[in-house]
Amino acid sequence: MIYAAFQQLEKSEKIAYQQSFANLKTASDLISSQVEAATSKLYLLDDAHSLLDFDNTAKKILDFSPAYSDIITVNHETRQYRSMLLNPIRAEQSLDITWSPLNSMAPQFSVSSIYEKLPNQWVFAVRYIQENLNEIWIEFDLKYTTQRLRGLKTLEHGYVFVVDSTTGRLVFHPDPKRIGSPSVSYHAGISEKISNGLRFGKHEYYYKGQFKVSVFDNDNPYNWVFISGTDRSDILASTYQFSLTAIVIASLLLLAMVFNYVTYQLNKSLAELNSKDELADFKHNLRAILDRFCHHKGIQLCFYDADYGHFTTIDYHGNSQIILKDKALATRFSPSSLSYTGKRYADPLAKKLHVNSRHYTIPLFDKESLIAVIYMKANFPTYRSILRMIRDYSEVALSNLLLHKKLRSKDVMTHLDNKLTIREKIDSQLGRDGVYLAILDIDHFKRINDTCGHECGDQVILHTAELMKTCFPKPGAMSLARYGGEEFCVLFKANDENDAYEQCELFRQMVEQATVDYEEYSVQYTVSVGITSAQDSQHITIGRADKALYQAKGLGRNQVVLNTFKA
Ligand code: GH3
Ligand code: MG
Ligand code: MG
Repeated sequence: MIYAAFQQLEKSEKIAYQQSFANLKTASDLISSQVEAATSKLYLLDDAHSLLDFDNTAKKILDFSPAYSDIITVNHETRQYRSMLLNPIRAEQSLDITWSPLNSMAPQFSVSSIYEKLPNQWVFAVRYIQENLNEIWIEFDLKYTTQRLRGLKTLEHGYVFVVDSTTGRLVFHPDPKRIGSPSVSYHAGISEKISNGLRFGKHEYYYKGQFKVSVFDNDNPYNWVFISGTDRSDILASTYQFSLTAIVIASLLLLAMVFNYVTYQLNKSLAELNSKDELADFKHNLRAILDRFCHHKGIQLCFYDADYGHFTTIDYHGNSQIILKDKALATRFSPSSLSYTGKRYADPLAKKLHVNSRHYTIPLFDKESLIAVIYMKANFPTYRSILRMIRDYSEVALSNLLLHKKLRSKDVMTHLDNKLTIREKIDSQLGRDGVYLAILDIDHFKRINDTCGHECGDQVILHTAELMKTCFPKPGAMSLARYGGEEFCVLFKANDENDAYEQCELFRQMVEQATVDYEEYSVQYTVSVGITSAQDSQHITIGRADKALYQAKGLGRNQVVLNTFKA
């Protein structure tokens, strides 16, 4: 549609130029035919045998054609001027008149520049030089000669005017009062082009608050410049209606296209969120999406761990940092909310994150539990529908990510951490005081399997895991893990070695005193425990705890051994 409107504009412009050129041709043809007609009259006058004959012919010519204002004769020898109508001849004798030869006719003919014969009567003359060098002039009244040019219009407001390039005065103008006066628009660029040798061409200029589009033609023997032009607004007006419709339709189309495109792009980007395995990648991707689709002044993403009530941030490399512990705050967020708040109403978490201007608070939920909060600083409200879409996708993607993470890090049967997770956690505690690692192994587990069956063995494993949870509650316990078959690990906090030993001893006693009932079996069992402080790397720490466990087994099982050696 826009293209069509542009085409229409081009077409209107082309039409304007075509009309202008056609007008010029008509105008110059009109003038030429009148000049030609005058030459035949001059031949007639030249043929006169006597003065009387001459005067009679001249009178007839003047009566017949109102375009001729006078016939002048000039005596070559005496330089005497004679007006047939006995008009004053001061103007004719002025030296300002310049003559241009009419070569296309015959060498005896020439055309004058325009001159003011009588006040407000402007004329030009066609001159014939006789053999005896006397001159005959036929004078043309410009008002009459050019009357017919008034009908030549271009579009709505365009017209033809003619300028005598020798004097810069108007030979013709639709307003007859202007004839003979200097032309302003001729000097707005066209005169320059002509003096540079251009015979015809196009010209655009600014005149009386309007952009004018014109063509000019100087290709004539009279040194006249025919100019035909129109206002640019005329050209625009003829396309206006068309363009307006085009613009409205195009805008609607564009809007629909933009909306479709944005939605498509957003969907595509959001789908990528789903493929992220790591929280740092998720955060990076989410930030990129918000950067691309929302106008904002900064984003903060905070993860929430419901087990501990921790709000954590994560840096580019994936290192997490607890920035706030506030279970009560977590309950203040509600699913599917999307609030835009001022600085004064920032919640404690926003304050911690230095979100100190107007912002959006977008909590992310996995079913009923809070998993993250996005804060987006924005001076002005942005598109809610886009934000909602981003929120919904992020919730699903983050829930999936956390679930995957859980699956990768947890033991499927007991839901305790797996070997990988506890290893990572040991490393993340490196160098901290008061952290201990205990390895627990069920004594003679093979026998339980052998006598009561594998299912019963499984129940014993599950029972042990439950007892561990009771005995080593969070947050004192940093990780409870199933390390392998019937072997478990606990990474926990204790005041000192004694405290660590006591906590494990309590656990050992609880196991010893418990009974696992399964079908017809009632199983009583024991565990051996090896403990060590967890200040070194996972390899060293686990090695030391394993050594202690081996000692406990060696010492007869059902006991706790603390490895106090520093490896
Ligand atoms: P010890 O007192 O020296 O630890 O003797 P043990 O019999 O407990 O030790 P051992 O490592 O020889 O046997 C462990 C057995 O645990 C071997 C394996 O079949 C069994 N087991 C490992 N995983 C599972 C499980 O998930 N379920 C059941 N039922 N048995 C398991
Ligand atoms: Mg065992
Ligand atoms: Mg074992």
